Parts: sequence; C-alpha cells; structure tokens
Amino acid sequence: MSTIALKNLSKKFGQVEVFSNLDLTIRSGEFVAFLGPSGCGKSTLLRMIAGLEGVDAGEINIGDRRVDTLPPGARGVAMVFQHYALYPHMTIAENVAFGLRNIGTEEAEIDRRVAEAAEMLEIGALLDRRPAQLSGGQRQRVAIARALVKKPDAFLFDEPLSNLDAALRLRTRIELAQLHKRTRATTIFVTHDQVEAMTLADRIVVMREMKIEQIGAPMEVYNRPASDFVASFVGSPP
Ligand code: ADP
Ligand code: MG
Repeated sequence: MSTIALKNLSKKFGQVEVFSNLDLTIRSGEFVAFLGPSGCGKSTLLRMIAGLEGVDAGEINIGDRRVDTLPPGARGVAMVFQHYALYPHMTIAENVAFGLRNIGTEEAEIDRRVAEAAEMLEIGALLDRRPAQLSGGQRQRVAIARALVKKPDAFLFDEPLSNLDAALRLRTRIELAQLHKRTRATTIFVTHDQVEAMTLADRIVVMREMKIEQIGAPMEVYNRPASDFVASFVGSPP
C-alpha cells in the first residue's frame, strides 16, 4: 500500500497543454474514483500514473519512490482495463500467472499466489479453461486476479465494469468493494457512472474538460457540489 502523489503535473498533446500544474494526493489504502463525462481526461490521467503516457513536467511519487521517469513495469502498479485482453491460447491459470512468470517468480510462489487470487475472486473452478469458454463477468474477474497476483502498491482500474450487463456490473461492483476491504490496496477507479463512484469510493475526483472540478467524500460532493456542473453530474438536489 502506498500513497500516490501527483505534483505540479503538466502534459501536452502536441502543442496543446491538456493538464497544467495538477496536484493530487491519494492516501495509502484509499479507494478514489475519477468521475466525469467521456473525454474529460480520466484515462489520460490514469495512464500517466501507470506510465503508459509520458508527463511533460512535474512529479509522480508512489510511496517514497519517484516513478515518473520509470517504465510502467517498474512503477509497482497494476492496471485493469475495460477491454480485459486475456491471452486466448493460454489457460486461465496461465493467464493469471503470466506477469509473474515474466519477471522470474519461483513456480511455488506463483502457484501460491494464483490459488490465493483464484479463491478471492471465485475463479478456482475455471483455472483449466480458456478465455473463450468464460462469460464476460468471469473474464473480468480473471483480469482482476491477474492484477492481484502482482501484489502491486496500487490498483488502477479504467472503467472495468463498462462491458458488463447491469446485473453483472452490480455483482462485480460488490466484489470489488469486498476485495478492497480485504487487500486495503490503494486504488484508483475510473468511471463515468456516478452511482459506481458514489458507492465504491472513499473520495471522488470529479473531472471536467481535463480539469479537476472537485475532490471530496461522496456525500460531501453530493451535498455541497462546487459548481452547477458537479451538481448536475452527481445528481445533487437543487
Ligand atoms: P476519458 O477517459 O475521460 O473519456 P481521455 O483521457 O481518454 O478521456 O481523453 C481526454 C481527451 O484527450 C480527449 O479529448 C481525447 O481525444 C484526448 N486524447 C487522449 N489521448 C490522446 C493522444 N494520445 N493524443 C491526442 N489527444 C488525446
Ligand atoms: Mg477513458
């Protein structure tokens, strides 16, 4: 578990500055949601933290390490995407173990961690199957297990529930909440769904047009929205 601290971050796409002097601190063990409409910069901000997108100025610190110059694999974060790309030719067990094998983890340790993650995400019975034999919800749980086995300092979720139908969304949302209770891992959860953000997060970061509009606990933001935009987005009473 680690703090994630963004200090004075600036970012350009070509000549256009899309983030300027952005500061944000996520506490160790906290579950934070980035909430905002499509195109407001949620994924870009998450990808900057993960190292999939560079920064032009400022610092990203995870725990006591400055990571903004490190490659994605060295930052101690695990990302889960909306499109959970599993390897179709590998079994579920192999998919979950893949990242660990890649970094030379001992087989006994891999087995232990895969079993532990499979238990937490209730995919133990699926380990010998292949992705094509799984439902969307099962695949997403495998993608989460694959992140979990890395024992990252932080989880970065980019709309992980968006591809699921309504019932599965709800169920997976509850599972994510339970998982966070068990691991207490620092988590950033990107969503455009207010209900998801309000029910899961300790604090929500409301974004609009590449800017942070408001940061606060869900009920604080709901009861005291900082702008008309926030009020209408989180559905505050007039
Ligand atoms: P969100 O995840 O909130 O829907 P994104 O972070 O994906 O938003 O995108 C924010 C804005 O940045 C959009 O206008 C998008 O078109 C733009 N953008 C994202 N990536 C790039 C890129 N690599 N080059 C130029 N513009 C980009
Ligand atoms: Mg996005």
